[in-house]
Amino acid sequence: MPFIDAKTATHKHYDVIVVGSGAGGGQIAYTLTMEGVRVLMLEAGRKYNATEAAMFQTPDVAPLRGESTPDKNFGFYDATVDGGWQVPGEPYIVGTDPGDTNFSWWRSRMLGGRTNHWGRISLRNGIYDFKPHSRDGLGIDWPISYEDMAPYYDKVEMLVGIYGANDGLENTPNSPEGCLLTPPKPIVSDLLVQKHTARLGFPTIAGHRAVLTEALDWKRSPAKLHPGNVTAQKIIARDMQRRAPCFWATPCGNGCAIRANYQSTTVHLPPALDTGKLDILTDAMVAEVRMHKSGLASGVRFVDRKTGKSMEAHARTVVLAASAFETVRILLNSHPNGSREGLANSSGKLGRYLMDTVGSALGGQIPLLENLPPHNEEGASGGHMYVPWWGYKDQAAGKLDFPRGYHIEFGGGRRMPGFDSMEGLEWLTGGSYGAKLKEDARRYYGSFVYFSGRGEMIPNEKSYCEIDPTVKDKWGIPVLRFHWQWSDHETRQAEHMQKTFADIIESMGGRVRPRQRAGGNAISDGGSIIHEIGGAVMGDDPHTSVVNKWCQTWEVNNLFLADGAPFPSNADKNPTLTIMANAWRVGDHIVDRMRKKEL
Ligand SMILES: Cc1cc2nc3c(=O)[nH]c(=O)nc-3n(C[C@H](O)[C@H](O)[C@H](O)COP(=O)(O)OP(=O)(O)OC[C@H]3O[C@@H](n4cnc5c(N)ncnc54)[C@H](O)[C@@H]3O)c2cc1C
Ligand code: SF4
Repeated sequence: MPFIDAKTATHKHYDVIVVGSGAGGGQIAYTLTMEGVRVLMLEAGRKYNATEAAMFQTPDVAPLRGESTPDKNFGFYDATVDGGWQVPGEPYIVGTDPGDTNFSWWRSRMLGGRTNHWGRISLRNGIYDFKPHSRDGLGIDWPISYEDMAPYYDKVEMLVGIYGANDGLENTPNSPEGCLLTPPKPIVSDLLVQKHTARLGFPTIAGHRAVLTEALDWKRSPAKLHPGNVTAQKIIARDMQRRAPCFWATPCGNGCAIRANYQSTTVHLPPALDTGKLDILTDAMVAEVRMHKSGLASGVRFVDRKTGKSMEAHARTVVLAASAFETVRILLNSHPNGSREGLANSSGKLGRYLMDTVGSALGGQIPLLENLPPHNEEGASGGHMYVPWWGYKDQAAGKLDFPRGYHIEFGGGRRMPGFDSMEGLEWLTGGSYGAKLKEDARRYYGSFVYFSGRGEMIPNEKSYCEIDPTVKDKWGIPVLRFHWQWSDHETRQAEHMQKTFADIIESMGGRVRPRQRAGGNAISDGGSIIHEIGGAVMGDDPHTSVVNKWCQTWEVNNLFLADGAPFPSNADKNPTLTIMANAWRVGDHIVDRMRKKEL
């Protein structure tokens, strides 16, 4: 069962339809097929294989030296072959309610979705992160705890390959032995940041990213991943041996043809296809969930993007993993019995509690890092270290004016120079040119350090989406209209980030550039950090949530969600590891229910 065409897909009846092939869809398709479940995956984007990755091309041979353009937002060689901040023919609307602010929506239309070029930062939520409302009275608790998710974090870390270390810090969980890979060594600027954050009273520790710093443990991990399932163990042991460790040289954002980093296309889909249980139909834009008279989902209606035809595929169970807000859109566009509010929305909460990550950034120039001897600091093509949130005690003591926290991602070092690497040096050089400009470029190359805060947003009533009453995409599917408002909680947190970054830069003897920002200017636009989740939150009460703790819709027994849409909170930890762990948990539940003939 491999890649199939639309006609074949519509003629078969599957156990499960999975919509979307990114982190959530890839993971749940893997989990289900490893247990022998017959899955049809429908993906709106085109087929993609990481052998297409432009790994070794350097900026100097690309048009515009590889710079970003409106259709290649992350540069010419970025792995996003189709998609971006705008997808041609697939608009979305930004609302104009009083107080609405800008919202940006990144979509990848390709097999594997955004996992082909994400940052690969993979942090576990901590114990506090599952019960935020119980701790400070704000937001919504998860109906599950860290203990429920922990075994699935273990499994995802072992399968995907995450480097990191156990530091035993508050709300920053350790992983059991055998889960994490050795972290890469810090680069020079990492060590400087670590020294100065320690002076300021907070830690800098090994980063956690989905990059193989060494070979996976293919002898021991398969039995832990699939206890009692010898077939699955053999498949994954074989696949793990086919993945090569990182060779520290090429940008992960371009994709990794040697399969050293995590992409759904290189990690989840190959073994799932090896089971013989997975059919994949690409260029299939799902418009709605179709229903039986019995009240169960019968399948989905999709548009074949190659022909423009509207078609239907059928299965015993439907899983939506189209990325949080696309999943919400599909549900809002599904109208059983002509209902206007969408499917599984008797709570009225569908489209509510949209969240992104609070983002704020600041950089500085550090004289101590000038004129370093030439050396290669590409490393794992992303953070080797980071600063986890450290302010729990200050918060408890009432010393901070915002709830929850943020972690700090930072970068520096001498990496492959791009077209703009040496732009804007005038404030340092006074405007040199000729031989002096070259000398200055060498002097300042690698002397900049950049800090980005990634903080928790509290869900609020004013950040929501709905179907626009008039606008449709080029496939005739109604589009989303977003309303986005940050509260003071988030803007104060962003201001705190700015001050912290300036403190670190100044402690290192550096100069902040550009200027430290305040208030609404300190915070990034909603959606711009690309960590959007929520819109169909899980809970224990069908009156206040869309899905139960198994991410099964309260109203349709055989309809599940497996992306970030059910998340009731967005911890400061980047969401993708939790999306995968949760998708595995939901997949196990579906298998269990199928075995009991309940689905
Ligand atoms: C530049 C960048 C950096 C990032 N860095 C990090 C990071 O370091 N750490 C982290 O945790 N997260 C990061 N993220 C976010 C991360 O990529 C997402 O959280 C993750 O990919 C979400 O997985 P998903 O399966 O929900 O959605 P996606 O990966 O977006 O996959 C959804 C898939 O569904 C398909 N689809 C959508 N609508 C339909 C439809 N109607 N019918 C059929 N198919 C459909 C899409 O084409 C897509 O392939 C980053 C994202 C970007 C863009
Ligand atoms: S840095 Fe390593 S993991 Fe990333 S693309 Fe290069 S080889 Fe692959």
